[in-house]
Amino acid sequence: PDSGDPQGDLLGMGARVAVLLPLPLPLREAYDYGVPAGMALNPGDFVEVPLGPRRVIGVVWGPGAGVVEARRLKPVIRRFDAPPMTAVARRFVEWVAAYTMTLPGFVLRMAMSVPAALEPPRETLAYLLRPDALAPPGFKMTDARRRVLALLEDGPPRTPGELAEEAGCGVTVVRGLAEAGLLEPLLLPPLPPGGRPDWTRPGPTLSDHQAAAADDLRQRVRAGGYTTVLLDGVTGSGKTEVYYEAIAAALEQGKQALILLPEIALSAQWLDRFARRFGAAPAEWHSELTGSQRRDTWRAVAKGEVPVVVGARSALFLPYPDLGVIIVDEEHDSAYKQEEGAIYHARDMAVARAHLGGLPIVLVSATPSLETKVNADSGRYTRIALPSRHGGAQLPEVALVDLRRDRPPARHWLAPSLRQALADTLAAGEQAMLFLNRRGYAPLTLCRACGHRMQCPNCTAWLVEHRLARKLQCHHCGLQQPLPPACPECGEEGTMAACGPGVERIAEEVAELFPDARAAIMASDTLFGPRAIQEMVRKISDHELDLIIGTQVMAKGHHFPMLTLVGVVDADLGLNGGDLRAAERTYQLLHQVAGRAGRGERPGTVMLQTFMPEHPVMQALAAGDRDGFYQLEAEMRQDAGMPPFGRLAALIVSGEDPTLVDRVALALGRAAPRDDTVHVLGPAPAPLALLRGRHRRRLLLKAPRATQVQALIAAWLERVEIPPAIRVQIDVDPYSF
Ligand code: ADP
Ligand code: ZN
Repeated sequence: PDSGDPQGDLLGMGARVAVLLPLPLPLREAYDYGVPAGMALNPGDFVEVPLGPRRVIGVVWGPGAGVVEARRLKPVIRRFDAPPMTAVARRFVEWVAAYTMTLPGFVLRMAMSVPAALEPPRETLAYLLRPDALAPPGFKMTDARRRVLALLEDGPPRTPGELAEEAGCGVTVVRGLAEAGLLEPLLLPPLPPGGRPDWTRPGPTLSDHQAAAADDLRQRVRAGGYTTVLLDGVTGSGKTEVYYEAIAAALEQGKQALILLPEIALSAQWLDRFARRFGAAPAEWHSELTGSQRRDTWRAVAKGEVPVVVGARSALFLPYPDLGVIIVDEEHDSAYKQEEGAIYHARDMAVARAHLGGLPIVLVSATPSLETKVNADSGRYTRIALPSRHGGAQLPEVALVDLRRDRPPARHWLAPSLRQALADTLAAGEQAMLFLNRRGYAPLTLCRACGHRMQCPNCTAWLVEHRLARKLQCHHCGLQQPLPPACPECGEEGTMAACGPGVERIAEEVAELFPDARAAIMASDTLFGPRAIQEMVRKISDHELDLIIGTQVMAKGHHFPMLTLVGVVDADLGLNGGDLRAAERTYQLLHQVAGRAGRGERPGTVMLQTFMPEHPVMQALAAGDRDGFYQLEAEMRQDAGMPPFGRLAALIVSGEDPTLVDRVALALGRAAPRDDTVHVLGPAPAPLALLRGRHRRRLLLKAPRATQVQALIAAWLERVEIPPAIRVQIDVDPYSF
């Protein structure tokens, strides 16, 4: 295990405790506390300490700094009987805090998000049948009571709730039996979440390419030690099957495996597949878990009872005692960038975690981020390639639909050629998907009389019409309001018009064109929770649907063998706006969407509707020339000194008073570090210049790749006084620029 701590306790020396809870304490450093006689403390121990009038939870960080005399220190109140935070985990917290320039306390909070996990685990009440118990006189044996007893005759002990559900009666029936002395109560310790994946189960027979890739990964995991591998393979090449072998190798070593997915809540199909391969489910970690699930999972991970965790980015901060491999699936996905609180990129932090812990990490993608691609080209990362689709499935044919010539009818969005292709696909009994990365009915509502546009009062964003919900919604702050009957500006009635399409509007067009087709929308706001998504995925797999209209929820990872046509309604959508990463991101998204087509025996076709068929992204997609696109993109970034060839960091200045925000942003601009190589651009309105009522300005620091931007920024911020009403967020390596 990666303990690495010097043995021996800190008794009597005054422990240095990093205080991490409750909520955002603006603590820069750890505090010293006294250690009461008889309490043995070691680095990593969780403790309760007094802080001002409060009692808070902290982690012992090391021996005291010795500034205050030991006997004058406030003593630690108690030590929790919980597994300590390992040395690697603590160094990781320090590293992330230093890299992202956030307070260690913030990062610690992510690592320890569930204080209740420190309390002894709660046991659950279950019942057994009491042997040779006799019903007391006058006890009436009803049918329901008999059913409960029968269940326990030959079943394992179960909770009152489980018994009631299985017997189809109320919990009171179960309680009645217990009170009558017919059941034996039993306290069960909580079961570790997830099951015990069996790494000895054989996987599918791998192709030669897959087998070579799997062998390579297995050897790296067995050998241990830090290495980063890019598993680079086209969609459907069997990357998942290959990295399963790396997981199996970690389990074989008695170590844990962590798999990061961009959107775990949407990954029901992934979970099913894992369970089929290993005979048990992994433990999950994401924002949809309940408080008690989080508590049980955290604790079980800390105790080493959980062999495999699959999770969203925050799963990186769980207290693994002995991690053997990290997998980052779809490593290019922007969902790995956390934009609030501590701003970090989970893929980059995962590489750091692997480095600190001395273990292999596998980055998986069919369209790697340019950062990872460049690292693989330069040999910093090892590339393992899977060049073809499994089982001889062909990559889909990609056709460009030039919307300037092939025009949809007025107030419709599907071009004649795409309509024809849809009709042909449906007639052949195959499935089609229309992709549009826009929820709702229409992205803009405008008054035809005066031109007034419905805008969010709190954000730089239009209000999106959701016709099914009969509302206008802001997709940034969640504001909702009814559709106005008259224009709020000029007062005219009946002039408000929906502009442009969202998925709901495409569904309307589809219903008009193909009234008999079984169609459904698949978007995050039409699918409530993992179950609904799972059900939708099942319906598509079982061919209970002919046509799916989806947002990017639909683009990710799914494998639908009957899906042969993918139509992208607006391929240009992501290319508008000034973001220099737009081309890369659009290429990745469209490539991934296209990869949904033709994964089974029948070949697939992809049609991209665009107004700019000559754009390099469209050309590369049509020609299937991924590396050509990357080459061009890399050259452009290199010329501009942009990442990954140069470094960027953003300061985002925000506050409710725009004048004050501007004043601080300008002061920061004047105090900016500048020399021959370091440039500061801005202040300029940040992307989303108004967000949830806060005005935002951005300064962008641009420097050569080897620059320690953190040191520059720290010195920069020292030179400017920031009033309390203003917040300055630091985004090292911003995703958009
Ligand atoms: P990727 O992750 O590269 O998109 P997957 O691992 O999802 O590819 O594989 C695509 C499909 O091919 C899946 O249904 C998978 O089960 C199947 N597949 C991949 N490799 C094999 C294999 N060696 N034997 C049988 N089926 C395989
Ligand atoms: Zn808003």
